[in-house]
This record gives sequence, structure tokens and C-alpha cells, in this order.
Amino acid sequence: MCEALVGLPDVNVDGVGDWPRWLRIAITTRAQRPSCPTCAGAVWRHDDLDVELVDLPCFERRTRLVWSKSRWRCPNPNCEVVTFVESDHRIAADRAGMTDRAGRWATFQVGHHGRAVSEVAADLGCDWHTVMDAVNHHGRPLIDDPNRIGKTVAVGLDEVLFCREGKFKHRLWSTQVVDVARGQLLDVVPGRDAASCCRWFADQPVEWSARIVWATLDLSGSYRSVFDTMLPHAVQIADPFHVVKLANFVLDEVRRRVQNETCGHRGRKTDPLYRSRKLMTIAHERLDDESNLKLVGLLEAGDPKGEVRNAWHAKEVVRSLYAIDDAEVAVEFVAQLGIDLQDQSCPPEIRRLGRTITTWRHQIAAWHQARFTNGPTEAVNNLIKRVKRVAFGITNWTNYRTRSLLYAGKPDWSLLDLNSR
Ligand SMILES: [Zn+2]
Repeated sequence: MCEALVGLPDVNVDGVGDWPRWLRIAITTRAQRPSCPTCAGAVWRHDDLDVELVDLPCFERRTRLVWSKSRWRCPNPNCEVVTFVESDHRIAADRAGMTDRAGRWATFQVGHHGRAVSEVAADLGCDWHTVMDAVNHHGRPLIDDPNRIGKTVAVGLDEVLFCREGKFKHRLWSTQVVDVARGQLLDVVPGRDAASCCRWFADQPVEWSARIVWATLDLSGSYRSVFDTMLPHAVQIADPFHVVKLANFVLDEVRRRVQNETCGHRGRKTDPLYRSRKLMTIAHERLDDESNLKLVGLLEAGDPKGEVRNAWHAKEVVRSLYAIDDAEVAVEFVAQLGIDLQDQSCPPEIRRLGRTITTWRHQIAAWHQARFTNGPTEAVNNLIKRVKRVAFGITNWTNYRTRSLLYAGKPDWSLLDLNSR
């Protein structure tokens, strides 16, 4: 009965003791006498070695499995083996601090449920490192599983803050590679430069890269060069959100400059331009008549040369580009928009926006062909942020990568074999 409760294969339960901090279960295996792993000769019994392993809680009590391992001696004087200890990977990996089943459970808690390692360690009554080692050990096969990364049609890149390092809180970045068709984190790469991302793509199978049709990115030059170099056949799509965000940013720049030129100071709550700042960021079609009139009045009062109005109009035109249904029309529209915004009558900020749109015109118009955005990338980014927050920040790259990929990388959890033993 006791063996059935302990539930380990080929194991004798020699005793159970209720210690103040945990329940201790003493076991030995029913393994046959082995032969020497090197010379295959007969071996002698040397002694026993008690190994204490963290196990799953038993009836609400934290549990330790005390495995009395046999140590064997090889009598052959020409053999390099002197003594060796028995091992059984069904119970625990060699030199692990935790049983195999507890390690797999901890990996599921941390990786799938996104729990803090310290929480899981408290449940098991063990050290933080014991749990994290187990998560890395059992998580690695799930992350490296070749079937995890399937057939990717659309891939997206985005930067994500890894940690702040040192006295001056120097920011270390990482890049996430996301399958935007399935919302799956494929990998995290250290740094946000083109070289490290290129290396990652170079390590992937050629068939996998060849299947990618779409590549989404924000308006970042380094990611563009990654796609140019590593996925030249894929159509690049500039993320609509970032394009509109840029237009809004330019509008804000113009407003602040005009504010300073006309009033000689930064916006105050009575200044018409300052009062118009929120109305201007709202989509025009969402403004009711009253707000619309208010906005027109405020702009007339605070914007003598009509520069802010011009920038506001530019932002609205950029937005309207995403209402176009026809892909061919969109290509012409974007090209013409880039030229129009660079007109000499426009404020310098808008001319700069025009130049950016001209540089990225193919990527911007490509959205109308497939409508893939970097939205799933941002969603994955949110999951990674949650992992970091739960951990109160992670500074170890291996732990960061393991936990992010287990949480957001959609691993096949059935590989963890949770209920089989
Ligand atoms: Zn030997």
C-alpha cells in the first residue's frame, strides 16, 4: 500500500518518518547488481549513499525522498573505474536536487502558469536555485523541440527590454522573433542589432526560411536590414500602428514648436494649442460637432501660420490610408502622400515625415496585401513583460529565455509527460 502511495517504479519503501519540517520517505531500488560500465566485469558492493531529494508534497506535507543508493566497486586493477553509484533517471537525474516528477511539476508551474520560482520553491520547501535548475533542465527539451516551430508564414521582429544593468541602470535589449500568424514567440535573441538577429535566422533550417512570405516590422532600420539580408524573398510590412504613431508624434512636435514660437514658453493649461492637444490625437471621425468646432476655434486662435493644422491634416491623411480597400490604389496613394508631404510649403517636421513615408512606401503599402500587423508581437511582448514582472526582473539570460519561451512560445506540454507516472 505504501509503495502504491509513493508511486515510483521498482522501488521498495523502507520507511516513512514525519520530521518537523517535512515528511521523509526512505527508498531503495529493486535494481539487479550491475556490471562495470567501463570493463563490463563483475562489481562488489562498496557502501550505501543516502541522497535526499525534494519531492512533490504528500497529503499537504512537504516531502523529501531519501534514496539509499548503492555504491559499487570495480575490482579490476586495470579498469579506470574505482567506484560508481547507481542511477535511475525515472526517479531523478544524476546530481539533481529534485525528483524527476517534482521537476516536471515545477516546470509546468513556472513555465505554463507563469508562477514565480520563489512561490513554487516555497510550495516544495526548497531553495530557489533547485527549482530554477529543474525548470531549465526539463524546459530545455520543450524549447528545443523541433516541432515547436512549425510552418511559419509571417514573421515579426520587435525589441523588448531584457534588463537594466549596473549602477547606472544601463539598458540591455533583446529582440523577439514572433510568428505573427499564430501569435507564437519563436525565440528571443540578445541585443537589438541586425547582426545578432541575422545569426539567428542563419541558424534556422533553409526550408523554414523559404516558406516565410510576410515579414512585419516597426519602422526600424536594423530589422529592415535583417529581412533584406536573411529573408530577401519575403514581403516586408510596416506595422500600421507605428506609422500612425509616427504621424501623431510629428503632429506633437509641430504643436510644441509653434507653441514656443507664438507664446515663448511651453504649453500652459490656458493656451489654445495646449488645450487642443488631446482633441487633435482623437480620430477625426470620432469627434462630435461640438468638439470639432472647439478644435477649429482653438487652432485659429493658437496657430497663426496654420502649421499645426497642416500637421493635423497630414496625420488624418496617414490614418485614412488604412481605410483603402484596394492594394493597387494604396501603392499609388502612399507614393503620392510621401511626395505631397515633402512639399516646400510644409513645416520641416512634416517634410521629414514625408521622407520617411517615401523610404518605407513599399512596406507601408504592403499591409494592404496581407493585413498582417505587428500586433501579435506586441501581445507576446506583454507576456514577456509579465514573466519579468512576476520574477521582479531577470538578469540571467538563460533563465530569461527559458521562462519567456515556456510562457509565450507555445511548447508542446504533453512532452513533459505530467500524469504518466
Ligand atoms: Zn571496471
